[in-house]
Amino acid sequence: MKIFVINCGSSSLKFQLIDSVSEECLAKGLCERIGIEGGMISYTPAGGEKEKTKVEIPDHKEAFRLVLEAMTNPKTGVLKSTDEIDAVGHRMVHGGEKFACSAILDADVLAAVTECNDLAPLHNPANLVGVNACKELMPNVPMVGVFDTAFHQTMPEEAYLYAIPYEYYKKYGVRRYGFHGTSHHYVSQHCAEFLGKNYEDMKIIVCHLGNGASVSAVKNGKCVDTSMGMTPLEGLVMGTRSGDIDAGVLEFLANKEGMDIKELLNMLNKKSGLLGLTEASSDSRDVEDGYFEKKENCVRAQKSFCYRVAKYIGAYAAAMNGVDAICFTAGVGENSPITREMICDYLGYLGVTIDKEANNKRGDDNIISTADSKTTVCVIPTNEELAIARETARLVK
Ligand code: AMP
Repeated sequence: MKIFVINCGSSSLKFQLIDSVSEECLAKGLCERIGIEGGMISYTPAGGEKEKTKVEIPDHKEAFRLVLEAMTNPKTGVLKSTDEIDAVGHRMVHGGEKFACSAILDADVLAAVTECNDLAPLHNPANLVGVNACKELMPNVPMVGVFDTAFHQTMPEEAYLYAIPYEYYKKYGVRRYGFHGTSHHYVSQHCAEFLGKNYEDMKIIVCHLGNGASVSAVKNGKCVDTSMGMTPLEGLVMGTRSGDIDAGVLEFLANKEGMDIKELLNMLNKKSGLLGLTEASSDSRDVEDGYFEKKENCVRAQKSFCYRVAKYIGAYAAAMNGVDAICFTAGVGENSPITREMICDYLGYLGVTIDKEANNKRGDDNIISTADSKTTVCVIPTNEELAIARETARLVK
C-alpha cells in the first residue's frame, strides 16, 4: 500500500509517501508559510535531488494540491496518478482521553477530535484544517488519525493526575496527557526487537531529545509515565521551552514585569529553555560548540539540560522499580555524544557504563553501553512517519 503521511501545522505541511510493504520512503517534502507571504514548497523523490520552489500558498487546500502535483509530475514525480494513494495517515496532536489508539477519521471521530481543541488550541485546529483540505481533494481515500497522546493513555491515575482540586480534572480533563507518543512507542518497541528481547517483559526509558523533548517510562510494553503534561510545556529543558517550573514564578514575574498570562506563557514556550539560558541560541549544536569552547552561557545551558534528563531517568527507574534499557532518540539524542555522555555520567547507581567509542559512532541503532553495563543504553533513531504509515496500513486493511 502507498500511504501518504501528513503532519499539518497552522502554516506548514510536512509529508512523506511511504510504501507500507517495503517501508521505503518514496518521496518527502514540506510546504512552508501557508497563508503567509513568501510561501515555499520543497520536494525530494527517493534517490533524487531536493527541489525548492517559491510559490504563494494561500491555504492548506492549495498546499495539498501542490504536493499532489509534485508527486505526479511526469519528470520527478513518483506516482502516475493520485489514485495510487491507498490511504492517508494524519499526525494528530491531542486526542485527550478519547483516543488511546489510532482511529479512522470518519465524521464521529472528527467531531470527537474537535472536542479536544480546547486542550491543544494551537495544534488541533491546524490538524483538522489539514484533514478537511485533504478530504476535499481525495474524498474517497481512507484517512487515519494517529495521536501524539494515545500511547500515554495507559498511565495510571497517580502518574497523570495533578494535585490540584479534582473537580478540574472532572470538569475539564486537566491532567497529564504527554506527547511524542508515536515516537516513544516506536522507539521502545524497536529497542526490544533490536536487543532480541520480549517487549512485554522489559522496563524501558525513552529519552526523546529534540527541539521539543520528553522522557517516558515504558513497562511491559505500556507507558506508565511521561514528562510532558497537559501541554508540551512540562518536563525537560527544551529548545525554547522551560519545562518544569514553580507556578509561583508566574505571579512573581507578573508583578515585577507587568506581564499578563499570555505574555508569561509566550516567555515559557518561546524564550526559555536553551535559548533562555544561553541568551543566544535554541539550537543544541550551538550550545554544544559553546560548551566545548567553555563559554559560560553554553556550559550552564548544557549542564541544566543534561541534569534535568538525568533526574527524570532516576524518577522513572523508581516508578518502574528498575530499568533494563535506556534509549536516546530524536535530533539531540541521536546526534550528540557529549549530551548522552553527560547524562549517563549521573547513572552510575544504575550500573550504567558507557563505551566511549560506541557512543561516538553515528548512524543506525547502536548500543553505547559496555558489555558489562547493568543497564543497556542505546541510540534508536526515531521514525514517526513510518510509525504513522504502519498504523494507517493496519487500520485500513
Ligand atoms: P528534532 O526536534 O528531533 O528535529 O531535533 C532538533 C534538535 O536536534 C536541534 O536542537 C538540533 O540542534 C539538534 N541536532 C540535530 N543534529 C545535531 C547534531 N549533529 N549534533 C547535535 N545536535 C543536533
